[in-house]
Amino acid sequence: MSKAYPITDHTYDCVVVGAGGAGLRATFGMTKAGLKTACITKVFPTRSHTVAAQGGIGASLGNMDEDNWKWHMYDTVKGSDWLGDQDAIEYMCKNAVAAVHELEHYGVPFTRNEDGKIYQRPFGGHMKNFGETPVPRACAAADRTGHAILHTLYQQSLRHDAEFFVEYIALDLIMDDEGVCRGVIAWNLEDGSIHRFRAQTTVMASGGYGRTYFSCTSAHTCTGDGHGMVARAGLPLQDMEFVQFHPTGIYGAGVLITEGARGEGGYLTNANGERFMERYAPNAKDLASRDVVSRAMTVEILEGRGVGDKKDHINLHLEHLGPEMLAERLPGISESSKVFAGVDLIREPIPVIPTAHYNMGGIPTNIHGEVLRPTADDPEATCPGLMAIGEAACVSVHGANRLGTNSLLDIVVFGRAAALRARDTLKAGAEQKPLPEGSAEQALDRFDTLRHAAGSKPTAVIRDEMQQTMQSKVAVFRDEKILTEGQASIDAIKASQDDIAIKDRSLVWNSDLVEALELENLLTCAQATVHGALNRTESRGAHARDDYPDRNDKDWMKHTVTWTEPDHGVKITYRPVHTWTLTDEIEYVVPKARVY
Ligand SMILES: Cc1cc2nc3c(=O)[nH]c(=O)nc-3n(C[C@H](O)[C@H](O)[C@H](O)COP(=O)(O)OP(=O)(O)OC[C@H]3O[C@@H](n4cnc5c(N)ncnc54)[C@H](O)[C@@H]3O)c2cc1C
Repeated sequence: MSKAYPITDHTYDCVVVGAGGAGLRATFGMTKAGLKTACITKVFPTRSHTVAAQGGIGASLGNMDEDNWKWHMYDTVKGSDWLGDQDAIEYMCKNAVAAVHELEHYGVPFTRNEDGKIYQRPFGGHMKNFGETPVPRACAAADRTGHAILHTLYQQSLRHDAEFFVEYIALDLIMDDEGVCRGVIAWNLEDGSIHRFRAQTTVMASGGYGRTYFSCTSAHTCTGDGHGMVARAGLPLQDMEFVQFHPTGIYGAGVLITEGARGEGGYLTNANGERFMERYAPNAKDLASRDVVSRAMTVEILEGRGVGDKKDHINLHLEHLGPEMLAERLPGISESSKVFAGVDLIREPIPVIPTAHYNMGGIPTNIHGEVLRPTADDPEATCPGLMAIGEAACVSVHGANRLGTNSLLDIVVFGRAAALRARDTLKAGAEQKPLPEGSAEQALDRFDTLRHAAGSKPTAVIRDEMQQTMQSKVAVFRDEKILTEGQASIDAIKASQDDIAIKDRSLVWNSDLVEALELENLLTCAQATVHGALNRTESRGAHARDDYPDRNDKDWMKHTVTWTEPDHGVKITYRPVHTWTLTDEIEYVVPKARVY
């Protein structure tokens, strides 16, 4: 069937799928190391979701108050509710200061403090002295930090002559008989041509899957494409049940109000005007970890203390901060509040609600970005030729709950780590074996079947069913009954994609077909999320079970590994959490109760 699609062939040392912060950092790192590198992206690089990051990037620079990478590591482990791998967390926090200085030298226009150093603001869960009092650790460029970082990284990529394939959507990985990844198949949206990229290493930097939910802060492009490709290649996903709900999405719109707003002194109130976070987190209050604040808000609403006619949201106050400080430090959210909530935040509170925001789970990797294919005998076994970085990956530094500012850090630290690994293990221009016979066939068969699908359900209908189910059954609070219903629905909705209806058969700018391809990937992610959640009978980080309210370290200090089966089934295995650090500079942080 693939004969119908003429194929343009390319050979590179490295191919990176995704041009967000993670993909760009890896791309120019690999190019700089002399490796011929292509970066494929379905949207223009500076439109990647990284551009929307607001509050900051975490690093213990100590520009505003004493700080230490060991405190940062402690906070990250505690934030992860001990599901994070501590060797990876050590690597990230130790490298954070150098990573931020590197960004500064590349040209990121950070806001300055009075000494002219990089300005840092407090953020949820970032504390000094191993969890005592909040410390300003979020390095910020006003409330547009992601914008500043992404544009700078794109400029660096151009400077290093990386080759971009813009508005190409990657369809599937090319795997050989020995289970080695040999490249990727992509469709050029502009002229309809099909491209086969052969590479020594393929890097998934395709971002998260926020769009499985109805209300989320992520861009429409966050559809878990890398997750879908990896799952179709017979590789697993990890810890997918851990979905972060950000406490302050704008009510009704889902648009994010950065945690930096609370870092600058903003606070939440319920219908009685009470600052209720004081009851839930006496020390950190409004700056407790995100899962803690989101649950507290949900409890307030469920117990009838929500604000508004329907008593279904919470107020976020910034009025007391004054117009000058809002204009200088939080200009972006001032604008968003006006546009999306009709609120002038100098005068009135912003209506907010916990909103799906970040995926802690993803494609499992080691600290070099190499993708894992764990077996019972070897939980650290890797899949040769394949890497994953950024929100698409699960390394795992965020465990069961990510601290704000740690994702921008994750993408630059592990984007760089992947580039270093490629530099150390690959030879530029090394001869590559011919690709296996029919290497594009499977991908193009799937593509062609979908393109001609003449079922009865439009993509938008199936997507809406999935998003509503995830929103109502796999949200902030979970229990067996609701998850069982959610799992049955998602399994049925996933199976119903065989009955999808595609109206537009064209190969050029066919957004109908693009959305259908994305939906397949979203459904793979949704299914892994709900299956993992039903199986995990404990509460940890963002996964809060009413029927199992406690963390259970004896049985559940392990990563969920989900394998998607061809008949829409899912198999679950587990692999142990790393209970060691990378060096002897710091000891393993022993699990204890998580209070803020
Ligand atoms: C509103 C918002 C605010 C945030 N604020 C912060 C913050 O202040 N601090 C912080 O640390 N974190 C923040 N985060 C989280 C953080 O921004 C993201 O986790 C991070 O930027 C993800 O980067 P990435 O490079 O992994 O993916 P993305 O930036 O999402 O990029 C994904 C890339 O993959 C490409 N792609 C995807 N699928 C395909 C395909 N099939 N073919 C080709 N290309 C493909 C896309 O074109 C894109 O270039 C925020 C997130 C949101 C949504």
